[in-house]
Amino acid sequence: MFPQQLEYFLLHETLQPFSDFASMNCPPVITEEQRQTPIWAECDVCVIGGSCTGLFAAVRAARLGMKVVLIERMGCFGGVATLSLVNVWHSPLDEVYERKIFAGLTIEVIDRLKKRRAVTEQARNPNWAWAFNSQEMQIELDELVRESHIQPYLHTAFVSPYTESGRMKGVIVENKSGRGVIFAKQFIDASGDGDVAARLGLATYVSQSHQPSTTCALFSGWETLQGTDWGKLIYDHGEEFGLVQGFSWGAPVPGSDQMMLAATRVYGANCAEGDALTRAEMEGRRQVRAIMDLLAKYAPSSAIVLQALPARIGIRETRHIKCHHQLTGEEVLGGCRFEDAIANGSYRVDIHHHDKPGITLQYLSGRKEYARPGFPTEISRWREESDFNPTFYQIPFRSMIPLGVTNLLVAGRMIDADSLAHAAIRVMVNMNQTGEAAGVAAALAVKAGIDVSAVDVAVLRKKLASGGSLVF
Ligand SMILES: Cc1cc2nc3c(=O)[nH]c(=O)nc-3n(C[C@H](O)[C@H](O)[C@H](O)COP(=O)(O)OP(=O)(O)OC[C@H]3O[C@@H](n4cnc5c(N)ncnc54)[C@H](O)[C@@H]3O)c2cc1C
Repeated sequence: MFPQQLEYFLLHETLQPFSDFASMNCPPVITEEQRQTPIWAECDVCVIGGSCTGLFAAVRAARLGMKVVLIERMGCFGGVATLSLVNVWHSPLDEVYERKIFAGLTIEVIDRLKKRRAVTEQARNPNWAWAFNSQEMQIELDELVRESHIQPYLHTAFVSPYTESGRMKGVIVENKSGRGVIFAKQFIDASGDGDVAARLGLATYVSQSHQPSTTCALFSGWETLQGTDWGKLIYDHGEEFGLVQGFSWGAPVPGSDQMMLAATRVYGANCAEGDALTRAEMEGRRQVRAIMDLLAKYAPSSAIVLQALPARIGIRETRHIKCHHQLTGEEVLGGCRFEDAIANGSYRVDIHHHDKPGITLQYLSGRKEYARPGFPTEISRWREESDFNPTFYQIPFRSMIPLGVTNLLVAGRMIDADSLAHAAIRVMVNMNQTGEAAGVAAALAVKAGIDVSAVDVAVLRKKLASGGSLVF
């Protein structure tokens, strides 16, 4: 279904708004009544968004003696790792599997899940080092919140920032109890989409080529497809079932007979917008059923059963927030070292294309691969051979300090990174490290009574290391 059919699909299926006013730049407005909003909590550090990024920020701040509030819109912690069923984390080793490049809470959580027999490990595989059971992960993260004496708010959505004299003083949130405000000295936006930064009116951008979203699903009976190239079947016959050619992969769920399948692709939807997110959720689920119908027709002896759909579609990319430094693809692929480095990564550039099937991978070694189901992988180089190849890249702290605000940090996929850089750093083992750094930096800022941008990066890096992170 490329490219004319995709154009049709984007225009007619994905982008048609549901609500009458969603497509208008200036919809009609009403004036709400003024209201009295109760103060629900006062704390040192308030983290908005409870994926591992946000939770790890909260834990690191709490371990430095901070009173921490953690706000999560959904009913569990973990973000994409739990809500969206993506159960794969990548290698803690550099690209040549020689040097350990990160540790910290990622390893702590993996070790805890190992005790539950909820992890499978294969340290030298570029596709995944650990596959985990997302349901066990949910419970383990609850434990971590309890042990860390973090004040959690589940099913609680951030609604808007509350500012006084141009400084962020609180966040207004809503849940079943109504609407309340949480005061804090420092804030961390770990909402994935940068909701806090956006509603503060800070500078944001969405890449023209932002990566498509994917609805994952859990299936039993996947072993009945053994010997079948199901990726190719989906690719070859997708059009008959209203599927745009994309990319399919899956990972077994440890300790179960279930398979996590990531084979849908919703193009052209910026899921930071309510209407697009609504359509993307429904389109992703439609595609899951279409895949089941396709496999029933073209692999008739298979007997797969849909066991679970995600609580939220998996979102690869939406807003980025303008920060003191934009991390570039050149810096990532060049293995650039930063004085204020707070994270190390070796996951390759991994582009799920917005305008053609398949994925493109670019390695630090200069190797490039274009992969499509059922076709031999096309191998080339994105740069000439050289004597020296970097084996890991870094993320600088400056890419998490937004412009135009003094007591807010951003952590997770919204950080300031161009498309190429984002395509590598976006994986969870990297985002987890940005969370840890945000938590430690916020705690240092509270203790010193200073802006987060004034935190001494040498002290930050030292504190990260003494708390279990690997800092180079
Ligand atoms: C299909 C798919 C497959 C992927 N595969 C892998 C993989 O194999 N391995 C890997 O490591 N990475 C993978 N990624 C990338 C990775 O999962 C994401 O880049 C990463 O999880 C982003 O983390 P985050 O914390 O920034 O955002 P998220 O995980 O999206 O977390 C944001 C959190 O904030 C909450 N939130 C949002 N708005 C609000 C609000 N207004 N108020 C309160 N809470 C809010 C959300 O509910 C959520 O819990 C994949 C992504 C997708 C979509």
